[in-house]
Amino acid sequence: LEENLRAVRARIDAAARAAGRDPSAVRLLAVSKTWPPEDVAALAALGQHDFGENRAQELLDKAGRLAARGDLRVRWHFIGQLQRNKAAAVARVGAVVHSVDRESLARALDRAGQGLDRPVEVFVQVDLGGPEGDLATRGGSPPEEVPALADLVAASPGLSLRGLMAVAPRGADPLPAFERLAALADRVRADHPRAVDLSAGMSGDLEAAIAAGANVVRVGTALFGDRPLPFAKIREHQPPESHE
Ligand SMILES: *Cc1c(COP(=O)(O)O)cnc(C)c1O
Repeated sequence: LEENLRAVRARIDAAARAAGRDPSAVRLLAVSKTWPPEDVAALAALGQHDFGENRAQELLDKAGRLAARGDLRVRWHFIGQLQRNKAAAVARVGAVVHSVDRESLARALDRAGQGLDRPVEVFVQVDLGGPEGDLATRGGSPPEEVPALADLVAASPGLSLRGLMAVAPRGADPLPAFERLAALADRVRADHPRAVDLSAGMSGDLEAAIAAGANVVRVGTALFGDRPLPFAKIREHQPPESHE
């Protein structure tokens, strides 16, 4: 883990320098989905404190187990499809939610945030797969609906809008997709100047994301190794997300 962490940070630094950006302005979010809390604790001990999960139950289990160990240096981020009935529990562990993709979820998180001592930090997730590339969606709101969703988040007392998030479409050059995302982020920032964060880039495409302006990269495989292949995916003969 230590070696991988060093290598990923070196990639981030090199990508930022190549883009003429300050490397310290790009934050690493370690995507710990499928990996045990011990791995999270080990990375936290090495100074990596931001962790992402894409299943609510897994996030809650891991957060609970780390809290029980007294490991409070971890900041959680939720990066997957979130059901409204899980919104309050995810908000309660202090998770930043990167995947707000619809009004009903924003409203559920807002209600949860109003019951806490500080607003829930959220990103609006943008679907980069849609009409322009005719590529399969990887989640998110259609780009044309993003400004209104961002307005709703910004107007919600229980929420704090950090910016936009996206996953690059499969099977296409990620750079133009990330550039479309960055242009949309500029538009949103014109109305919401504090929404300065851009969450984009994973193990396979973090350089392209940083070139386009991402300041939060979400990296799983390059840190933890290949995730176990889920049974359903073996049966469907689909490559896992980490093998694109
Ligand atoms: C799994 C996942 C990642 C990390 O992907 P890797 O290719 O393993 O780095 C990033 N973002 C989201 C939304 C994910 O689900």
